[in-house]
Amino acid sequence: MMVSPLMGHLAQALELAKLMLARNNQLSIIALIMELPIDPHGTARIQSLIAATNVEGLHFHHLPTPEDTSDWNITHRGLFTFKLLEYQKPHVREIASKTKKLSGLLIDLVSTTMIDVADELGVPTYLFFTSGAAFLGLMLHFQTLEDEQNRGISDLVKGVSHLILPSFAKPVPIGVLPAIATHKEYWSTFVLKWTRDYRRAKGIIVNTFSDLESNAISSFSLDSYYGKSSLPPIFPVGPILNRSQIHTQSSEDCSAMMKWLDCQPKNSVVFLCFGSLASFHPDQVQEIAYGIERSGHRFLWVLRQPPAKDGGFPRDYENLELALPEGFLNQTASIGKVVGWVPQLAVLSHSAVGGFVSHCGWNSTLESIFCGVPIATWPVQAEQQLNAFQLVRELGIAVEISLDYNQQKENQALVPAEQVEKGIREIMDVENEVRIRVKEFSEKSRLATKEGGSSYFALGNLIQDICSRSSA
Ligand code: UDP
Repeated sequence: MMVSPLMGHLAQALELAKLMLARNNQLSIIALIMELPIDPHGTARIQSLIAATNVEGLHFHHLPTPEDTSDWNITHRGLFTFKLLEYQKPHVREIASKTKKLSGLLIDLVSTTMIDVADELGVPTYLFFTSGAAFLGLMLHFQTLEDEQNRGISDLVKGVSHLILPSFAKPVPIGVLPAIATHKEYWSTFVLKWTRDYRRAKGIIVNTFSDLESNAISSFSLDSYYGKSSLPPIFPVGPILNRSQIHTQSSEDCSAMMKWLDCQPKNSVVFLCFGSLASFHPDQVQEIAYGIERSGHRFLWVLRQPPAKDGGFPRDYENLELALPEGFLNQTASIGKVVGWVPQLAVLSHSAVGGFVSHCGWNSTLESIFCGVPIATWPVQAEQQLNAFQLVRELGIAVEISLDYNQQKENQALVPAEQVEKGIREIMDVENEVRIRVKEFSEKSRLATKEGGSSYFALGNLIQDICSRSSA
């Protein structure tokens, strides 16, 4: 297993590995771990995650960390990660070629360069897609149009407000299309190549479940949308959740936070968290603070500092007071807490948490659905706008603070305090219908992974596929 060192990929991939091992004790999995030298905080979290993962059959192998990357001249986290993957390729090749009875390589959606290694060794690659099936469908459809009909995305979006896409039930507004597809250079340099590579995999494992994305999953069997060469089998095995209890506060602070939650009434706390990669400009932080305060609701807010260098990774604040409006912490001390990295699934599972202001990263989306906590959407980057659209418009299980906020957009306007306040009030409204609908999906998500459920079945098929290829 060779997965990029991002929390939203690696934690779930390790959970997938554990599930596979639990289902078949003939398997063993070697997780190749690489460190991202430009993200010391993320690296520390990943080290804690690995230290806390002790499962029979799951072995870790640490890849070398390049000593000096200054001559790479890259500070942007995405570009750095891709360069690092290329750097690791010969190491992966060496380890894989020495591994006895190697039956396949499991990669994530950005490590497709490793498919070359698997092909050289004559073993299959399985791709773990850590976002949703609808987004996967969008990528495959755009790639098909470009490669088979010579229709680029810029042509498709010219002069229209919406696109009909096979993996979505409703027309998709242009404003929620992910920047990784619409940004011409990014698409043609990276994403188009990844998507072509997805077709080289022998299976695509998607972290979703069929009741959540039935439209997208059934669309994969319609060749007319996805081109002449058939797609690899799709295995919707989710939700696979980040169950790690990693936090960056001291254990005392973390248990104090959980104890504080224990003392709050049921469904009374709004939780605000924007994943592992997002952070806000100081002006926006002020607006969020005012919005929270004006809503009058109890809150738990994970607030992280923007990266030191453009395109880097956010970190926890050393002094929160400096980031917040004067007096905010004192005035709200009896109803809320502002914290650094928390064990999110544990927080969302807590009965005091009644709503989630989220950036709609796919993992956070699945975690909130699983816990039955409705989201107020505030996408920030990547494919999050698309996820927000799915949650609000297609599934009706979220309310909207924004659907198309996009930090990469030039002149992105601030989300004003009133909009934050309105979103919090809506999501915390006990009579809001989205609350009932998200509970229904929570139930479905739990059934999916139980024996007899669709994801349980798909995982069984995946294991069978791996085993049948290695015994052939
Ligand atoms: N997460 C967490 N604590 C935090 C922030 C994030 O445990 O304070 C976890 C969260 O539970 C999720 C992952 O980090 O599993 C973030 O993945 P997601 O796809 O939601 O967003 P990304 O970080 O990739 O933007």
